[in-house]
Amino acid sequence: MKIIRTIRALRKALAAIDGSIGFVPTMGYFHEGHLSLMRTAKRNNACAVVSLFVNPTQFGPTEDLSRYPRDLARDAGLARTAGVDIMFVPTVEEMYPAGASQTVVEVGGIAGILCGAVRPGHFCGVATVVSKLINIVLPDVMYLGQKDFQQTVVIKRMVSDLNFPLRVVVCPTVREPDGLAMSSRNSYLSPTERMQATAIYRALQMARSMAAAGESDAGKIIFKIKKLILDETSATIEYVNCVSVADLQDVRRITGKVLIVLAVKFPSARLIDNAVIELNVDEKVRR
Ligand code: AMP
Repeated sequence: MKIIRTIRALRKALAAIDGSIGFVPTMGYFHEGHLSLMRTAKRNNACAVVSLFVNPTQFGPTEDLSRYPRDLARDAGLARTAGVDIMFVPTVEEMYPAGASQTVVEVGGIAGILCGAVRPGHFCGVATVVSKLINIVLPDVMYLGQKDFQQTVVIKRMVSDLNFPLRVVVCPTVREPDGLAMSSRNSYLSPTERMQATAIYRALQMARSMAAAGESDAGKIIFKIKKLILDETSATIEYVNCVSVADLQDVRRITGKVLIVLAVKFPSARLIDNAVIELNVDEKVRR
C-alpha cells in the first residue's frame, strides 16, 4: 500500500492503474465500518483508494475539529490489511491552498433538513470536499456507509445533478455486538455513556417491531423512540424523524418501507443512526 500526500503524486500513481478505481472517502480513525467499505472497494475494483482527510470545512465553529481522533500509523496498518492499494492523506494546505478556496458546492433542499438544519454549512463542506476528491481521484465507483444516510442522499443528488461520471454504492451500517453503530466519535463516550448508547439501537429495533406489528402512525413510533432514549440515557434528542427513503421527506402514515433517522447528543458526543422499517400490511389488516 502506498501512502501519498500530494495531489500531483496521487495523479501520477493513478495514471499507471489499468482497470477500475474504487474510492472510499474517510476522516480516519478507522473501525470495522470503514474497513468493510475498503474491502468492498478492493473486491470489486482493480485498485482501492482511500482518502483520509479531516475536512475542516464540514465542521461548525463550535464543533469537534481540533479534538477529532487521529492515529495515522494505526489507520495505515488497518487499511493495508483491508487490501487498500493507495491511501491519500493530504494536508489542509494541499486541499485548500491559501486564497484558493472560493468555490463551494451547495446542494439544495435535502441538505438543509435534519443534520443540515442543526449543522449549518455541514453538507456544503461535505459536498465541496467530496467533489474535490472525486476530481482528484477520478474513481469509477465511490463507496459510502448507510450509517450517514443523509450524506449518501446528498452526495447521490450532487453526483446526479452535476453529472459526475461515477457510481455511488451504499454499504450497510456495521454495528458493535451490542448494536451501537460504529463511529469514530464513539471514542468520546464515557463508559457510562457508552453503555447507555445501546438504547439508540434498542429504540430503532422497537420501531421496527412496532411497524412489523402493524403500527402505521409515524408519530406514535417517534414518541416511543424518544421516550426510550430519554428514559435510559443522559442524552438530549436533536431529532427523531420518520422519512421517505428516497428523499428524506417526513412521512406521517407508514405504508411500505420508511426510514427512521435520529441524532442524539450525549454530554461527550453527538451520535446519529438510522434504520429502514417496514409496515407489515397483513398485521394492519387483521387489527
Ligand atoms: P467518516 O470517516 O466518519 O467520515 O466515514 C467515512 C465513511 O465510512 C462514510 O461513508 C461513512 O458513512 C462510513 N461509515 C462510518 N461509520 C460506518 C459504519 N458503522 N458502518 C458503515 N459505514 C460507516
